[in-house]
Amino acid sequence: MEINVGVLALQGAVSEHYHHLRRCGAEARKVKRPLDLEGLSGLIIPGGESTAIGYLMRETGLDRAVVEKSRQGMALFGTCAGLALLASEVEDGAANQPNLGLMKVRVRRNAFGRQRESFETMVNVEKWEKPLLGVFIRAPVITEASAEVQVMARLEEGIIAARQGNMLVTSFHPELVDDLTMHHYFLTLCES
Ligand code: GLN
Repeated sequence: MEINVGVLALQGAVSEHYHHLRRCGAEARKVKRPLDLEGLSGLIIPGGESTAIGYLMRETGLDRAVVEKSRQGMALFGTCAGLALLASEVEDGAANQPNLGLMKVRVRRNAFGRQRESFETMVNVEKWEKPLLGVFIRAPVITEASAEVQVMARLEEGIIAARQGNMLVTSFHPELVDDLTMHHYFLTLCES
């Protein structure tokens, strides 16, 4: 059976996720309004600017709709800005920074510095056979996680990949590398 997965398409790295999902064999859909969530098993919240995405989610009503669908079992995958949007606590966020508060973690935005401090490094995900190339662009990290959060990878600065039930987050951008492992992993969460 095909899995229907959406990519939140308000701002940020939308088409890269969309193409990765297609390459994994999933039925992908761009989500711009609450109605687009119907029938989805999972949703990716991409990287971009968390403040901008958050405001647009609020404006379109997608903030409440995503929380509601998540409570009904829809899986979520937040990359970079998407991680900040899913977190329950954001350090040094913009005033009135909107976030969905679904994942019980504290996030520090831009934890590695500014745009020109962007970098790539191999990431070892716990229990995975092979490391994955991580692209970090003004990336956030998780500085604190509650007991129900499973830490999947970390660097010196903090946690960079984690899972809570069927919610997955990464500080880095798996959609920007030619490696589908993280997207395949997310699809297993969408199926369960
Ligand atoms: N620093 C950005 C933010 O917090 C995220 C950057 C990114 O998604 N590449 O919105």
